[in-house]
Amino acid sequence: MKIYNTLSGKKEDLKLLNQKRLNFFVCGPTVYNSSHIGHARTYVFFDTAVKYLRFAGYKVFYLQNITDIDDKIINRANELGQEPLFLSRHYTNEYFKDMQELRINSVSKYAPASKFIPQIITQIKTLIKKKYAYATPGGVYFDITKFPQYGKLSRQSLKSLKKAVRIEPDANKRHDFDFVLWKAKKIGEPFWKSPWGDGRPGWHIEDTAISEHFFGSQYDIHGGGVDLKFPHHESEIAQQEAASGKIPFVKYWMHTGHLLVSGTKMSKSLKNFITIHDLLKKHSTEAFRLLVLQNHYRSPLNYTDKSIQATEEGLKRIEEFMTRLKKIRNPKSQIPNKSKIQNSKLTQHVILSQTKNLNELLKKFTIAMENDFDTPKVIAGIFNFIKKINGLIDKNLFSTKEAANAIAALKKIDIVLGIMPKIKEEEIPDAIKKLAEEREKYRKEKKWTEADKIREKITRAGFIVEDMPTGLNIKKAGA
Ligand code: AMP
Repeated sequence: MKIYNTLSGKKEDLKLLNQKRLNFFVCGPTVYNSSHIGHARTYVFFDTAVKYLRFAGYKVFYLQNITDIDDKIINRANELGQEPLFLSRHYTNEYFKDMQELRINSVSKYAPASKFIPQIITQIKTLIKKKYAYATPGGVYFDITKFPQYGKLSRQSLKSLKKAVRIEPDANKRHDFDFVLWKAKKIGEPFWKSPWGDGRPGWHIEDTAISEHFFGSQYDIHGGGVDLKFPHHESEIAQQEAASGKIPFVKYWMHTGHLLVSGTKMSKSLKNFITIHDLLKKHSTEAFRLLVLQNHYRSPLNYTDKSIQATEEGLKRIEEFMTRLKKIRNPKSQIPNKSKIQNSKLTQHVILSQTKNLNELLKKFTIAMENDFDTPKVIAGIFNFIKKINGLIDKNLFSTKEAANAIAALKKIDIVLGIMPKIKEEEIPDAIKKLAEEREKYRKEKKWTEADKIREKITRAGFIVEDMPTGLNIKKAGA
């Protein structure tokens, strides 16, 4: 398994710190508003990555924090006249619902920051004791000059940062780039007691305190959107490596590209802000997951009406294909064309080549996923497979058993991808099946008028009969 590591800038072989378990942390949302499709892009990808690792046999513990106390939350709560923790609880619950709707169910543990205050305080105490941090009346700060490696993830030096980043003056800090670990209480803000007075945690410290609690001071993979690389992830490295003295804090850093809407960053003022709830009113979960997975996770993803509609079309092809396979596997709704099936006894050669197709599908899936989760290649492989098998079905070269195997293979892959729509088996009433058989009898006798009359009867009852190479197919009109 190869993973692109932002820290080294290379694809590297995945080698676990501890063979028993793969510890995977992904930054969760700041819950001050409804989650949007940018969040959905990042979390659909990590859901797929974790599901693949489990599919490949790794025992993954997938941990996600929830930033439920933060400046943005306090500001929004003040605007709405609500308690910040009440507001963040509301949006946390909404986030869980959104994740469920998106078929994201791989997270082992969600950890809200407000529930880990003692762990946060312990870590800050360690940093002060080791002289990496200092307390002021305004709060506790990390002294960036004590950690010269700061910038190693985003490959920046402090000097270049000084030129590039504008920092608001803060009389409490020793150096402009020192970042806050604990913020002293301000009127009207939620607070907790600490050795440095009442206050609340800074943003970066919650992640390392939570990950240390569950994983210890080192772990395997840390993920998040590319916007978090600096300063958030950079500061996490400084905190944890300073606190424990163990390097590296995290072995592999993974970053997803940003989702843009029609080429621009989403924003409320531009009116191009799409919440997950809005998305799912118009489009299916499967279409969105397909859109995400058709694009490489490290590239930006441009969401447009056209791009989601195109994936809806792709999804329809998958759906039609699955329905077709199910009908072959389970010929309940099919009147077999006996002569054709008898004439086309599947030769050993054909069966072998079909098995080869299935093996190839699974093999290509594994190869692509093991190469830094190359999901676009996986999706292309599925569409190729559909084309190939449709060709065989058209030539009446696909048996019931092979259809069952193909469905099983696709379902296996879909445990990871979550893009296959759930298809209801169609219920065709016995009376309709009888009519279709009668019509077939007339057709064989070349009694076209009688056959057409029966077809009309079937149509009036709301069903359609199609003459397929494998026999007759009956379906509900509009299905
Ligand atoms: P936030 O709620 O802003 O703290 O973001 C939570 C996670 O979603 C982080 O990993 C972000 O990088 C990611 N994220 C936020 N906006 C986008 C976006 N437009 N595209 C992709 N990921 C995003």
